[in-house]
Amino acid sequence: MGNANIRCPQCGLVNFTTAAECRRCHSPLSAAASDRTVLDPANPSFVTPTGGLPDYKTAVPWSRRSSTNTAFLVIGWFLCPLLTLWCCLNLLTGEIYYDTPDGQGGYRVWSRANKIAALVLVGVWVVGVIIFIAER
Ligand SMILES: [Zn+2]
Repeated sequence: MGNANIRCPQCGLVNFTTAAECRRCHSPLSAAASDRTVLDPANPSFVTPTGGLPDYKTAVPWSRRSSTNTAFLVIGWFLCPLLTLWCCLNLLTGEIYYDTPDGQGGYRVWSRANKIAALVLVGVWVVGVIIFIAER
């Protein structure tokens, strides 16, 4: 007794059978009552490797995808400063997600170093513009 767990149908996190909702994604677990699986306590798989992961395109808004922000940073650098600034805003207000699982039930995110590098690039660009204008 006490070893029976229930796996969240949404994210794959293993919760106690007494839990009414998932600890991570808060989806109701009672709905999956018929789908309960008793897990082997000797094999504590807390998350499913990929099966429980929410769909990247559904879970991550396009403004928070790594591909979008990389493209906008590059395009903005050469063509449209507003795109670059928009990316900076994204970087400062939240995480940017890669389309690869982190092995812990989520997606990998841009590291702090990655964000700082992007911001430094923008900083250089801003300083360049200021110098350009000042020397006219
Ligand atoms: Zn869940």
